[in-house]
Parts: sequence; C-alpha cells; structure tokens
Amino acid sequence: MSLFETQGVIIKTQDFKENDKLVWIFTEKSGKITTIAKGAKKAKSRHFSITLPLCYGDYMMFRGKNLYSLSEGKIINSFQGLLSNLEKLTYSSYLCELIDISLIDGESNPNLFKDFVTCLYLLNTDAIDYELLVRSFELKLLKSTGYGLNLNNCANCGKKINTSSYISLANYGGICGECTKEYSIRISTAAYNVLRFLNSSPMDKVHRVNVNTEIKDEIFKVTSSIFSSNYAKKPKSLEMLEYIKER
Ligand SMILES: [Zn+2]
Repeated sequence: MSLFETQGVIIKTQDFKENDKLVWIFTEKSGKITTIAKGAKKAKSRHFSITLPLCYGDYMMFRGKNLYSLSEGKIINSFQGLLSNLEKLTYSSYLCELIDISLIDGESNPNLFKDFVTCLYLLNTDAIDYELLVRSFELKLLKSTGYGLNLNNCANCGKKINTSSYISLANYGGICGECTKEYSIRISTAAYNVLRFLNSSPMDKVHRVNVNTEIKDEIFKVTSSIFSSNYAKKPKSLEMLEYIKER
C-alpha cells in the first residue's frame, strides 16, 4: 500500500463496524474518495476530530485496492462554527450533498476543490448573502462537471446575445429570439443579468450583488432544474432549505 497525502474536506460519514467510520472526503488531489478511519467513532481516538463533517485538513492515507485507509490528519479549519447556525448548517450540508451526488469517485478537480473551500470560508462569515453564494457555487460545480451555462451566445445556434428571456435546459444557456424555446425556462432580464454575473465571477465577488427574493427564486429554478434533470439523486437538505426560506 502506498502513502498518499492531500488536502481535503469531510463531506459525509457513516458508522462502520464497532469503532470505525467510513468517511467520504472531497480531496484536492484525487477528487471524492472513500476512506476507512479506524477507531474514529471513539471520542478519544486521534481520528475522531479530523473526521467530523466539514472538517478541512491535511490528510495522510494508505491507498488500498478499493478503499483508502486514514493514517493521520491535521486540521486546517474544522468549520464547526457552521454547525451552530441552522441556516449555515443547512447550506453547508447541501453543498456536501451536491458534491457527493455530482462527482465521480477519484476524479480530480483541484479548481472546484478551491471553490468549495472558499465557499465554506465565506459561509463562515456574516457579511454575505448565503443563498447567492450557494448559487454561485452551484454554477461552478455545473461548469466543472460539463453542464456549464453559456450566457453570451445562443445555446442553440451560437449567435451572440446580450440577454434572453429563456434558458435552455437541453443546451445549458440563453436562447436567441429566432430559436425554438422548447425544453426551457422563462427568466426575467434582471435575473438573467445576475445569473451571468454569478456565472462569470469568482465567489468572493458575490457580495457585490444585492437582489430580491423573486430574482433569487428565478435563479434557483434554473440551477435546480439543471441538477435534477442530470442527476438522479436529489439533495435531502433541499427540504430544509425550503423550510428556512419560508420563515
Ligand atoms: Zn439561436
């Protein structure tokens, strides 16, 4: 077995046997991987705190045939502060679920990893619209998994467009005035502009936009429709998000 070192974030855990845990880590070097953490269920274990959900750290593990086996880890940021606020907890759980649902095991994606960590750091602050931040991450996730939106050209014919009233769910982008609007979602000009800004800007620029609930709902309709039409599993935390938004 060879030793492997990488940065990673714990996205999911599951009890395994009497004292162990199965841990899904989104890593910088190898994408999403499954690791067995011996003894991690016990609070006294050196593996306990480094395998808590959302923990971001430097991990050393042995690469086995099917599974990795955790050797040791050093916490960079435990992000446990996210767990004490219901809104932040729900959004961060949602991000982890999205990663779990949309990434293939072992496929490295260092840029997305960087965005994911940035997103957790920004969620951990208080000066940002969490909902828009999460939409921005969704757009980056879609881009890195082959479903990126093109909002500067017609998704059907390629003609340059400045705006559009429809987003194609078949070709992932705006549709020009001449093309068919089949299998698409209607969108306002304001929402289209915000979507284009989020799609092309780094996440730390999200605080520059300030939009109302209607526009946020329109943008969510676009991203959630693309996710649900391409991935069979639906994040469980979506229901919790709806509940939070209704209050
Ligand atoms: Zn067109």
